[in-house]
Amino acid sequence: MSKINTLEIRNLTKSFNGRKAVDDVSFSVPENCIFGFIGANGAGKTTTMKMALGLLEADSGEIDICGERVCFGATKTNRLVGYLPDVPEFYNYMRPKEYLRLCGEITGLSDKVIKNRTAELLELVGLADVNRKIGGFSRGMKQRLGMAQALISEPKLLICDEPTSALDPIGRKEILEILTRIKGKTTVVFSTHILSDVERICDAVAVINKGKIVLESTISDLKVKHKSKTITLEFDHEIDSSEILQTLRKDNIIPARCEAADVSIENLFLEVSS
Ligand code: ATP
Repeated sequence: MSKINTLEIRNLTKSFNGRKAVDDVSFSVPENCIFGFIGANGAGKTTTMKMALGLLEADSGEIDICGERVCFGATKTNRLVGYLPDVPEFYNYMRPKEYLRLCGEITGLSDKVIKNRTAELLELVGLADVNRKIGGFSRGMKQRLGMAQALISEPKLLICDEPTSALDPIGRKEILEILTRIKGKTTVVFSTHILSDVERICDAVAVINKGKIVLESTISDLKVKHKSKTITLEFDHEIDSSEILQTLRKDNIIPARCEAADVSIENLFLEVSS
């Protein structure tokens, strides 16, 4: 028997005011995969994810989570899913433990499970020793607490909407490390437009452009297909890529035929043309 994919999307379409935001989208996410859902602003990522959560009604198409059909307005499949929005909201007067307890109670977990899970998750997200009110948290800390909240019910599938976009390089690295640590226990789908994050942790990707899937592939296949001479420079601080490129060229550290293929806050990817 073939294995059931954790997330399976088939021919999903959604229009707003007669404009297709999601246009015949199909892709599948195998169990225990970290899957990057890549697209520029307005490409259709959030709309797709909201439909997978049953929060938005599709015009047509189907979504299955662990083989169960997602129905708009019904929350049955959401017991299998954890969700981290791009900007998670909290009760600022609460402390992390209290907040996770509340989330556990809403989810219907027993007292004992809540206690164990809270300790485990705060350790996972690096907030075990933090007992301050959430209102004083940095963006990165809030995002990490949001990750703990999304994992409280041990979901089969974790959906994260742009989890690293609003963070500084250290905050981004911390989130990517958490995702790597839960690999093997939870299947992860995260949307992003930061290609270096994808390259760092993803097993497979789908690229969406103007509502249409333009590429679906494993990272290893992509690397074989688009093999080129690349150099990755990783910095521990924010960089000005053009300034760095200029210095490297001036000092003949890189060949003249070397161009910046991609730039993120602290990474510079260079490609050497033959
Ligand atoms: P971002 O990274 O900016 O969140 P995205 O890839 O998540 O982008 P979506 O938010 O899914 O993109 O939006 C896709 C398209 O649908 C955009 O053109 C957006 O303006 C439009 N759209 C999304 N939600 C609505 C809505 N409720 N009403 C009208 N148009 C909408």
